[in-house]
Amino acid sequence: MKNGVKMSWKCKNCGGCLFSQPTKGNLNLTKIDKQGTVIECEETTLYYGYITCDKCKKRGIKIQNIAEWEKE
Ligand SMILES: [Zn+2]
Repeated sequence: MKNGVKMSWKCKNCGGCLFSQPTKGNLNLTKIDKQGTVIECEETTLYYGYITCDKCKKRGIKIQNIAEWEKE
């Protein structure tokens, strides 16, 4: 997600609108050149963590647990 993208989810606790979610993934290295530089790879996400408000650190499994959808 790029910075500056307007989101309509607002944190129930602090009203913040920036959230983050940690993930754990695996890179399948499909093409490596003679020098050992990875040319091509495929990423598989194995695990998704809690969604966390960047401001107050409130967290939940789903965005609905920590934030409310606000109409523009
Ligand atoms: Zn918050």
